Amino acid sequence: APTTQPVVVIDAHDLPYLNKNLPVNKRVKDLLARMTLAEKAGQMTQAERNALRSRADIASYGLGSLLSGGGSVPTPNTPAAWAAMIDNYQLNAQATRLQIPLIYGVDAVHGHNNVIGATILPHNIGIGATRDPELSRRTGEVTATEVRATGIPWDFAPCVCVVRDDRWGRTYEGYSEDPALVKAMSTVITGMQGKADGSQLKQNTKVLATAKHYVGDGGTPYGSSTTGAYKIDQGITEVTRQQLEAIHLDPFKTSVDLGVGTVMPSYSSVDIIGDEAGPVKMHGNAELINGVLKQRMGFDGFVISDWQAIDQLPGDYPSDIRTSINAGLDMIMVPTNYQGFTQGLIDEVTAGRVPQSRIDDAVSRILTQKLKLGLFERPYADTSRLASIGGATHRAVGREAAAKSQVLLKNDGNLLPLATTSKVYVAGSNAGDLGNQLGGWTISWQGGSGPTTTGTTILDGIKQIVPTATFSQDASAPLDGHDVGVVVVGERPYAEGIGDVGNGHDLLLSDADKAAADKVCAAMKCVVLIVSGRPQVIADQLGEIDALVASWLPGSEGAGVADVLFGKRPFSGRLPVTWPKSEAQQPINVGDASYDPQYPYGWGLTTQAAARQKLAEAKKELLRKGFLDPNSLLAAISIDAALRKTDWSGPQATTALAALGQAGKYLDRTRVDSFADSDAVVGAARWIAQDQIGQDLDEATSKLTSDAEHLALSGDLSTAIAKLTTASKL
Ligand code: BGC
Repeated sequence: APTTQPVVVIDAHDLPYLNKNLPVNKRVKDLLARMTLAEKAGQMTQAERNALRSRADIASYGLGSLLSGGGSVPTPNTPAAWAAMIDNYQLNAQATRLQIPLIYGVDAVHGHNNVIGATILPHNIGIGATRDPELSRRTGEVTATEVRATGIPWDFAPCVCVVRDDRWGRTYEGYSEDPALVKAMSTVITGMQGKADGSQLKQNTKVLATAKHYVGDGGTPYGSSTTGAYKIDQGITEVTRQQLEAIHLDPFKTSVDLGVGTVMPSYSSVDIIGDEAGPVKMHGNAELINGVLKQRMGFDGFVISDWQAIDQLPGDYPSDIRTSINAGLDMIMVPTNYQGFTQGLIDEVTAGRVPQSRIDDAVSRILTQKLKLGLFERPYADTSRLASIGGATHRAVGREAAAKSQVLLKNDGNLLPLATTSKVYVAGSNAGDLGNQLGGWTISWQGGSGPTTTGTTILDGIKQIVPTATFSQDASAPLDGHDVGVVVVGERPYAEGIGDVGNGHDLLLSDADKAAADKVCAAMKCVVLIVSGRPQVIADQLGEIDALVASWLPGSEGAGVADVLFGKRPFSGRLPVTWPKSEAQQPINVGDASYDPQYPYGWGLTTQAAARQKLAEAKKELLRKGFLDPNSLLAAISIDAALRKTDWSGPQATTALAALGQAGKYLDRTRVDSFADSDAVVGAARWIAQDQIGQDLDEATSKLTSDAEHLALSGDLSTAIAKLTTASKL
């Protein structure tokens, strides 16, 4: 709640635009007719909250929006402090003549990632690996719920970029190199906003999404002609018109169809091969913004510029303003010079260089979204929702996503899943480093190493299963006496530009990581996990590695990674991008003429075959022991019954599941697990159950429980009770 009361009380007005029972378009029309040009220019302006000279400027300039850029966080960085901060800004907006609420925006690109204690989901590249649109939708729900709880109604996500060159430092923000997969994962927009008509946006668990960066951000080639390596993500996408349509534009059509509320243009330029025009900066690209996005695709939300991006247009500042607004931009992210922008815009309109109708269109679009979000009725945070931030239900989604994002690239001798009885040696720079597994856009813009927030590292997850595991980052601790090594290597966090700056911008492992892997893999069977925002070249080490996993940036729930390592869940992820043999192969994408990758797009082994083999071995051992112990014999018979079922995901699953459940019971009774890993049996049983009902039992239960919670909150008690009853039966 705000610290002081609003200066004017909204309800004192009896004006149509404040009447929540009128349709949104009528309210917009009424409000627009009351606004001065200065008030309109203010609505089209977004300032960075740290750049405000004083909070009173919100009212003086009638600012339409504020943002927290990466790392622009309150002190202390707690959910409650965020809510109080934003409520207080709203209070200033309420002090304006027309009391138009602010629309506050943040980059919550993998959970509410600026806030300490929030659930941090895997970065998008990992979500792409899950190939699970329903899960992607749920990640959107988690993010939206946590973001809106702090009073923030707008998220600059998702990036629906199609990543064509892994040297791009934003590769991890994209779901895939394949537009079809990006489109499939765009369900995240539904998770964030609800129904495509925007009718659910006013709920206190929904936020406005932003499809970014329009268009071709993922198509900027390394070394593109704009100067400076940093400019790789602000360079030029050179494509034929057909490629532009099929690769880069297509996902935006999906976003529009899902009702995405805002679109952010890209810093980059598009250069259509064969066109006279040459490279056109997207922030001034009238053909693609006005023409394609708004007219052809029918996008009726508003277009928000990227950070100071109009400044990069050719010409002076007045020309930047006029070019961008006339090209179809509706709100400009002017982090610092908001005074100069509002005055400049007023001047351009007064001089007739920006039509009044363009301003009215832009402001109508902005007001429409503010009204749909219910901000006029409820501008402040619903602090009763703060407890959802980083809560168990959300972390369960994070854990599931982390597990499902793991891609098993290699599994010689079926090393994975590991037996929980193994003597495990853990090494590598990213095994016990939470910040490294979170990546960029986490707590600070670039992210950072170490315990930057709350969560479990992969090492924590392993130790929860195997408490005796040894950890030695550089593999200096004695190696003898261990059965298996888990070496977790990869990148340090980064955002934008060319990537892992501290580690060189190449796609190679650090010398320290290579040395750790060499040492461990020479001494014992080893699995190497690569925690990174993009593929890393591993060709030289591959021979010494028994099992290899692409872990991406799995987020705050490292336990999910341990779940798949030890067979509590199956490996099911598949490569969302091509895995190259060398950096020289970049850009490399499925469909290329001379496609010769290390692992092709879509590659990913499953451990169901491995589980079968492990069970078969266990059965043999049990049969030998069976002469001494009847429980072992019974377990072996039950396993045999399960193995006879050829299709564990089909209708035979029920009997296989029952048989494995039975085997688990007998195994418990034998109390001998040195030869037969009872966890493998229980794990296999769970996978079958998962295939059968579409999800893991724990997940099903928690999903039903959280659904029930939502229903109860919305007053639908009978359905809530029904859901809870079903959950208790699972
Ligand atoms: C990024 C955008 C982001 C914006 C606001 C820019 O640097 O390109 O993706 O939304 O900053 O933080």
